[in-house]
Amino acid sequence: MKSLRLPLALLVAAFAFSNLARAEDPKPALAGEPAACCKKNAEAGKACPHGCCATAAKDDKNCEKCGGKNAPKPDKAT
Ligand SMILES: [Zn+2]
Ligand SMILES: [Zn+2]
Repeated sequence: MKSLRLPLALLVAAFAFSNLARAEDPKPALAGEPAACCKKNAEAGKACPHGCCATAAKDDKNCEKCGGKNAPKPDKAT
């Protein structure tokens, strides 16, 4: 039954590959540095209670008011 081996190998390879792909974070971490308050809350598995931080987080940014840093935006003008 040699014909069974190849599909099985492909299946295993596909499975391993999908696991590899999953290990890679599909969404890159926020560029820059989160504010200390946000970092602390994130480590505790919570969202930062600061309104300014929540507003910044909505824009996928770190709160600069609280000391967070944002990487410069990539130029979107194309
Ligand atoms: Zn915060
Ligand atoms: Zn803030």
